[in-house]
Amino acid sequence: MNLYTKIFVTALIPLIIIISISFIQIDHVINNQIKNFYKKELKDKSIISNKINEIIKQIYVNLNIISSVYEVKDAFRFNDNDLLTIWGKKFLDSQKMIFFVDLNAVVLSRAHDEFKFSDTLINKDFYKILKTNGVLHKIDYIDNTLCLIIGKKVLQYGKSVGFILIAQEIKSNFLENLENGTLFNLSVKKNIDINKIEKIEDILIYNSLLDKDIEATKKLREFLFFSLLSLVIFLSILLFIIIKKHLKPYIKLTEILSSFSNNKISLIQLRKDVKQIYKTNVMHEINSIAKAIQSMAIQVQKDKIKLERLSQIDQLTQVYNRRKIDSIFSLKFEEARRYNTIFSIIILDIDYFKAINDKYGHDMGDKVLVEFARILRTNIRVTDYIARFGGEEFLIVCTRTNAAECKKLCEKLRDKIRNININGLKISSSFGYVEYDSNFTSKDHMFKIADNFLYEAKNSGRDCIKG
Ligand code: GH3
Ligand code: MG
Ligand code: MG
Repeated sequence: MNLYTKIFVTALIPLIIIISISFIQIDHVINNQIKNFYKKELKDKSIISNKINEIIKQIYVNLNIISSVYEVKDAFRFNDNDLLTIWGKKFLDSQKMIFFVDLNAVVLSRAHDEFKFSDTLINKDFYKILKTNGVLHKIDYIDNTLCLIIGKKVLQYGKSVGFILIAQEIKSNFLENLENGTLFNLSVKKNIDINKIEKIEDILIYNSLLDKDIEATKKLREFLFFSLLSLVIFLSILLFIIIKKHLKPYIKLTEILSSFSNNKISLIQLRKDVKQIYKTNVMHEINSIAKAIQSMAIQVQKDKIKLERLSQIDQLTQVYNRRKIDSIFSLKFEEARRYNTIFSIIILDIDYFKAINDKYGHDMGDKVLVEFARILRTNIRVTDYIARFGGEEFLIVCTRTNAAECKKLCEKLRDKIRNININGLKISSSFGYVEYDSNFTSKDHMFKIADNFLYEAKNSGRDCIKG
């Protein structure tokens, strides 16, 4: 997992947790709200059922009262239409019809419509039931009106004299009365099968005023869910962009450092790349880190140069040391052998140096060495190389210099050395030189020849040049 992903996931997890918890809470509240809506509907349905039961109960009470009145029983026997109508009217209201029917199914009276009678109900199914059972409780059409019809046989001295039917009209007034005080808007189902219906509730359609609210609440939940989902997606993208923007310089810096540690880029390239980072991210925290790395790289580079120099330079005399001159000499020797170029070497040794040390002390000896080296260094060409080869022995490699030119250089140096005057102390030096010759088998061979000349010079009384 890279750094982007790690930080992105770390930031995303709490975001998702917070949003999920929010959604769970919202969902809980909405579910409770919907449950409350349903509870209210159930309550209202039971209110409506209670009202219906109350109405039915009242009809039964009225039916029992009318059927037990002697005058009514007599009126049945004497077909007294007027009397039946008068008694019927006592129990009538605007939503009801009361029928008095004789044993032959002929309507003796309609309490609600006193001028309409003498017709027959013989073909009506509900009459057949009433006739057979002596009681009736059915929803059916009577006088073309859908009603709850409750009927009863009327007895006098144990004999049937007729039937009374009270029909509760199931019309708009009745429905309004039922729905009053509830959140329902009632209507009657269409195309109902009369024979399959037992209760008024079976033919009612409960149009709840809450349905819209329930629907809206459900939609609100969906909306909130998709809003939160969109928010998560939007915030994730935003988070990713921001994290990427902030981390980009870190990633770049890491890449540069790992390239350096894998030796893919040099210290100089590292400096260039790091510089690019802090220049392009001036306001970023990475700026100070990049600057710190940059100054560390500069320091390392400086130390490296210092170390390189230290490993090549003789500390006392500040000329090359033996190791460095060895490699220069090898190079020159190989070059001469391959390309037939000319070069010479000179070996110099201070005369009676031990005596100087003994007489004036080691510090004085050092001073002489330093001055001696300075004279050599400042009197050779820039293309020549000088090194302290041993204690007070020096080697000069002279580029493109033949023996004659080399001799001249030796003489020049011998004069300069003779002129050295340190607190009145005078010194001299002996020289052995040699020009490259293709007969030399190695650089050591060439060196040996020069060293032999130096030996010869020493033996010739010192302060002498041999080549
Ligand atoms: P010759 O003329 O034959 O060269 O005699 P010499 O005394 O110069 O030669 P020798 O090799 O006997 O002595 C070299 C002396 O150089 C011995 C040593 O104490 C001294 N010497 C070597 N390195 C240093 C140094 O770094 N500082 C000082 N002060 N003396 C050194
Ligand atoms: Mg010596
Ligand atoms: Mg010496």
